[in-house]
Amino acid sequence: MMNDSKSPHDFVAPHLKNVPRSGIRDFFEIVNTRKDVISLGIGEPDFITPWHIRESSIYALNRGATSYTANLGLWELRKAISEYVNRRFHADYDPATEIMITVGVSEALDVAIRALISPGDEVLYHEPCYVSYAPVIAFAHGIPVAVETHADDDFRLRIDQLEAKVTPRTRVLMLNFPTNPTGSVLHQKDVEDIAAFAIRHNLVVITDEIYSELTYEAERVSIAAVPGMRERTIFLNGFSKAWAMTGYRIGFSCAPAPLTDAMMKLHQYTMLCAPILAQKAAIEALANGDDALAHMRSTYRQRRNLMVDGLQAAGLRCHIPQGAFYTFASIGHFGMRSHDFAMRFLEEENVACVPGTAFGACGEGFIRCAYATGTAKIETAMERLRTFTSRL
Ligand code: PMP
Repeated sequence: MMNDSKSPHDFVAPHLKNVPRSGIRDFFEIVNTRKDVISLGIGEPDFITPWHIRESSIYALNRGATSYTANLGLWELRKAISEYVNRRFHADYDPATEIMITVGVSEALDVAIRALISPGDEVLYHEPCYVSYAPVIAFAHGIPVAVETHADDDFRLRIDQLEAKVTPRTRVLMLNFPTNPTGSVLHQKDVEDIAAFAIRHNLVVITDEIYSELTYEAERVSIAAVPGMRERTIFLNGFSKAWAMTGYRIGFSCAPAPLTDAMMKLHQYTMLCAPILAQKAAIEALANGDDALAHMRSTYRQRRNLMVDGLQAAGLRCHIPQGAFYTFASIGHFGMRSHDFAMRFLEEENVACVPGTAFGACGEGFIRCAYATGTAKIETAMERLRTFTSRL
């Protein structure tokens, strides 16, 4: 008998229905209804991609570069990435079999998770974290297991907290340092301890190092370079943040050949390859982009100092973020929840920041303000924050 009681809603797969929409998106739908808002909400560089990088893709287009590429990506780019990762991260990957060019780190995260887990497998990740981690795990029918990090520890990942959450079903540990939204980084001892934990529990580590070029005072360390980790690590990085190339949609993964091969199957049958013009631009970014990158990094660092000073002057508590372009400041002592604080600040002062809860439950009591925006706007926003908190 035909069942005509179905609505389109009933056709949606249950594991997808249960995934909430991004809290950032919901908040910004409200922001977008207002005029002349100063937004500290966007996790995107305010810089336009450096001209020489844009020009290289224009040139490639003029020369007729409109085709597919090899599934893994252009050989020239994979070779450049192999050299870059070796130089910057001290990890060695074969461009022929261990490097894959992806449509942003977003695609790389998705294929990495799907290549590793079976339904019901557990994946550890640290919170507060980037909004896509738990959904991507759930889309692969895995179980996201959040490990809380705290301001008192500078949001670093503690082994006792990892040990408390690991089970025989845990297959993967996801890392993101420097972290969106906290700007936290790991030190050499941290990566060594986390590596020992991963080996002890036979886990694969997916390390999303998209912000690594935007590390300020701290030494830059990758778990991929810790002895014994290469075989069980998928290293992800991309061009969106450091080279201000978000719209190009270009990233990459580095992993031992059998893991790259598995990810490649997913990539090949779903994405085919990353866009050729973006790949051409990435070649130029690696070949000649160091100066532009250094300039943007030092600009972000000055803005960070300005913002941290401004937050503190307004009575917020804020650790000094060592990487990425976010501050994650505590507002708990004002006796308000993150969402209410962000909403009132928006309504009363026309400045948008993101409630910490968008990045996981333990983000309650915090707001994320991005300093990927111009100095004048940051100054005005911090003045308005002082006015706002003086009324609380
Ligand atoms: N990982 C993290 C931690 C991010 O913050 C972002 C973007 N906000 C991404 C991955 C996705 O970046 P991409 O543009 O390379 O897809």
